[in-house]
Amino acid sequence: MTYEMTQLRKYANHLVRLYAWRMAHPWLAYVRRTRRRGRSRRIAWTSVPGYYSRWAQAHPVSRRASYARWRAKNKERMRAYDAARYRRDRDRIIAANAEWHRKNRARVRLRQATRIQNIRGNGGRHTSAEWLAKCALLGHVCVYCGEARPLARDHKIPVARGGSSDITNIVPACGSCNSAKKHQTAAEFLARRRAA
Ligand SMILES: [Zn+2]
Repeated sequence: MTYEMTQLRKYANHLVRLYAWRMAHPWLAYVRRTRRRGRSRRIAWTSVPGYYSRWAQAHPVSRRASYARWRAKNKERMRAYDAARYRRDRDRIIAANAEWHRKNRARVRLRQATRIQNIRGNGGRHTSAEWLAKCALLGHVCVYCGEARPLARDHKIPVARGGSSDITNIVPACGSCNSAKKHQTAAEFLARRRAA
């Protein structure tokens, strides 16, 4: 083998190793390339393409926490964003929720069981006569939006937060307000509605 051929083979081997290394270390390759071009001596890791998605994949718990912090800081923005997304994609979101319930029957049942247990544990009872009297007293409208829609019992202090089923804790609410209220107290829900 001539000297030239040996050198050529060496160079070919070098290239093979180099490209393999680049494939295996895309970040470092990016950093080195950028440094060579003299763009900057220091490179923020966060500017490397795909840095955040890789970090998020490796740290799902931190990612969720960081997203929750961001959401808490940008409440108004997120509410508008969520509402717009729901309007845009209502049918698909409803179908996805139904699918989730089908796939998570055990979890749903546990939730229902916990709720029933809480209702018993929190104490308090009311009769249907008391319920009907309360609806009549409040004019057969939802206490939150004032609309005359089909009404269901809402716990002012939610069951999940120790609210009793005594009639003093029960108010008529429409389905939409009831599900929007979630685990907020009536006061919290109304304050948030007013702020929005
Ligand atoms: Zn309502």
